[in-house]
Amino acid sequence: MPGCAAVGCTNSNKKRFLMKHFPIDAARRKMWLEKMKRDNWVPTNYSCLCEVHFEDQMWEKTREGGSKRLKCDAVPTQFFLPYLVLMLGGISTRWKKTVAYFFTGKSVNGNVYHDIVVDIISKTESIGLNVVALISDMGPSNQSLWRKWNITAGRHCKLSNFLPLPLDDNRKLFVIPDVPHLFKNIKNMLVRNIY
Ligand SMILES: [Zn+2]
Repeated sequence: MPGCAAVGCTNSNKKRFLMKHFPIDAARRKMWLEKMKRDNWVPTNYSCLCEVHFEDQMWEKTREGGSKRLKCDAVPTQFFLPYLVLMLGGISTRWKKTVAYFFTGKSVNGNVYHDIVVDIISKTESIGLNVVALISDMGPSNQSLWRKWNITAGRHCKLSNFLPLPLDDNRKLFVIPDVPHLFKNIKNMLVRNIY
C-alpha cells in the first residue's frame, strides 16, 4: 500500500496509520479530490489517504477495540499546507524570532532555499549578530541544502559539518541536525511500536 496522497503528508501503513482507498464512485471520488486541493493529480485505484484527514464525525461508532470504519458518505476535510519556517535564536541568551515563512509544495527547490538562507544570514550579520550555526531537521528540503554545501554525516562517509560562512570566508558556519526532532521521532516510534 502506498503512502498518503495528501500534499505534505508522509503517513503510511508502515508507520501504523490506517489508510483509506479513494472511493470507486466517481462523484464521491471527485468530492475527495476537491477537498485535497492537489492540482492536476489523478488517483489510481491504489491511491490512499491516511486517517488523520477525516474528522471524528466521519467515522462509524465502533465498539471498544473494534476496527475503525469510515461512514459510507465520509469526506476528508483535514488538510494542511506544508510550510517552511525560518527562525533566529540566541545561543548564550534565550530568545528566538521567526524571520520568514513560506507555504510550499511537496518539495522546495534547493537553489531557491539556499538563496533565502544566505539572504537571512547576510541581513542578520548586518544588524550586528554573529551567525554561527544552522539547525534543521532532516527533511528533504534541508537535505538538499546540505548536499549543496557538501555537508555529510554518516557511518560510511567522512564527517563534514561546517562550511565557510557565506559572505565571510574567515568564519565557519556549522550545520547541525535538530536534536529535539530526533527525540520526537524516537517517541513516535515507541508509541507506534515501530522498532
Ligand atoms: Zn495523510
